[in-house]
Amino acid sequence: MRRNETDLLCQAAEELCFDNTFTRQLPADPEAQNFRRQVFGSCYSRVQPTPVTAPKLIAYAPEVAQRLHLSEAFCQSETFVDIFSGNKVLPDMDPHATCYGGHQFGSWAGQLGDGRAINLGELRTASGERWMLQLKGAGATPYSRGADGLAVLRSSVREFLCSEAMFHLGVPTTRALSLMLSGEPVLRDMFYDGHAELEPGAIVCRVAPSFTRFGSLQIFSARNDVKTLQQLLDHTIRHDFPHLGEPDGACYLRWFNEVCQRTAELMVHWMRVGFVHGVMNTDNMSVLGLTLDYGPYGWLEDYDPDWTPNTTDRELHRYCFGKQPRIAGWNLARLAEAILPLVDDTQALQEVLDTYFSSYKEKWQSMMADKLGLTSFQAETDVDLLDGLQQVLMLTETDMTLFYRKLADLDVDMEISTVSDKELIQPLMEAYYQAGDVRGLILQQISGWLRQYVQRLQQDGRSNTQRRVSMHRVNPKYVLRNYMAQVAIDQAVAGDYSEIHQLYALLEHPYDEQAAFDRYAAKRPEWAKNRASCSMLSCSS
Ligand code: AMP
Ligand code: MG
Repeated sequence: MRRNETDLLCQAAEELCFDNTFTRQLPADPEAQNFRRQVFGSCYSRVQPTPVTAPKLIAYAPEVAQRLHLSEAFCQSETFVDIFSGNKVLPDMDPHATCYGGHQFGSWAGQLGDGRAINLGELRTASGERWMLQLKGAGATPYSRGADGLAVLRSSVREFLCSEAMFHLGVPTTRALSLMLSGEPVLRDMFYDGHAELEPGAIVCRVAPSFTRFGSLQIFSARNDVKTLQQLLDHTIRHDFPHLGEPDGACYLRWFNEVCQRTAELMVHWMRVGFVHGVMNTDNMSVLGLTLDYGPYGWLEDYDPDWTPNTTDRELHRYCFGKQPRIAGWNLARLAEAILPLVDDTQALQEVLDTYFSSYKEKWQSMMADKLGLTSFQAETDVDLLDGLQQVLMLTETDMTLFYRKLADLDVDMEISTVSDKELIQPLMEAYYQAGDVRGLILQQISGWLRQYVQRLQQDGRSNTQRRVSMHRVNPKYVLRNYMAQVAIDQAVAGDYSEIHQLYALLEHPYDEQAAFDRYAAKRPEWAKNRASCSMLSCSS
């Protein structure tokens, strides 16, 4: 933010400006009472956050606050705590929970909806931006089904830290403004094994231009409610995709194409940084192509495309790392079906959907060329180079983040005909969990690939420095390793929030060296390998 913009910062609640286009322009549920039900013909139900007794601010994200034009003093005020814990609803807000459905693990699940998320309203900033503010864990809504509408501290810390870490990695994502303790205990059976325990309750304020999901459109299509389907899609296009022009049949196709392109980009980013969402149900897919709903997500440590952190997906691995791009394509096919009544041209939708797969491949190849520090992807050499890399990463437990970061240290000027395998691999040794395995055939295979890679670099012609600088821009040094979040959570449960703040600061600059934080750029410690919450997570949150 420029200096002369500081006087535009909101210092007090009265200065916040809301323009609630969603609730003003879309059909509302006529029922005003808050009880669980099926809601028809409406995009949302008005519902107030449930007040809490002893809210306490654990952290807020200054970067998000700035985006929203909120002053530091305001973010540290009691009013801020009151508003973002759900205790104080401002007169211009219009709290509501949205109706949506979704395919969960491949099957249509019917109505889901915001069961524990309440949109407060659309904040309009002094620079004209519009942001939906949403409290997650602020109490039951008509869509809460059999659950309580609350969130626990552990999952809220994970959402707060990860959404901000993703943003700073350059990955499209919903943001998190604040993390509060509700001051109230929440009962959870973390492992679904009949041992429910009380955990501290928490509330995160999430921020995005909109939280509209594939499932937000699917629900109306599934119910043959074409009128509401069209109202929601038209609203989405007018507010979030205004550059596509006035909604009509051709515009809906252009819109679907843009969702496909944005989703392809999102998948490329996840594959680049080693992020596994864990629950890619269609209700967790944002039409804006944002990472949405941080639940049992995880970060790839040793490179294993079949890995998923989600214990609910233990058998099928439907949402494992390597399958994410294909699953996104499957989800886009469900979105295409949902808007078919408005487009009425299966073939045209199919053709757009096909471009998702081709453009994902193209974007992925170009991203991989960046990860390897090549000026561009050259099919003649690089298809083979990338195939080989895929195999090399799986020969022995290899830390993905460290491998790519250290790869930048390879010396392009070396004489590969004389250098020994051991010397060649030296800069990468830190990436191997079992250093003792890196010998014999494995060593030969890895160094065989490294020789091919160095030759390719020599042909490419970049200097060591040029290559290192560009590689360090796409290969992060620091990611939110699964155990790191858990250490911060364990301390937070004991009342110490310093690790949350430390990780927040670290992850604001994931590509920088930050030598003082080197310990966070190390391999996952052995104790965390099979520890629950560090490598496996349940959906219970
Ligand atoms: P998720 O797996 O978190 O994406 O949630 C799937 C559905 O369950 C969504 O409709 C959520 O709103 C709902 N849900 C998840 N947790 C809760 C909860 N504690 N209370 C009410 N609804 C919930
Ligand atoms: Mg969800």
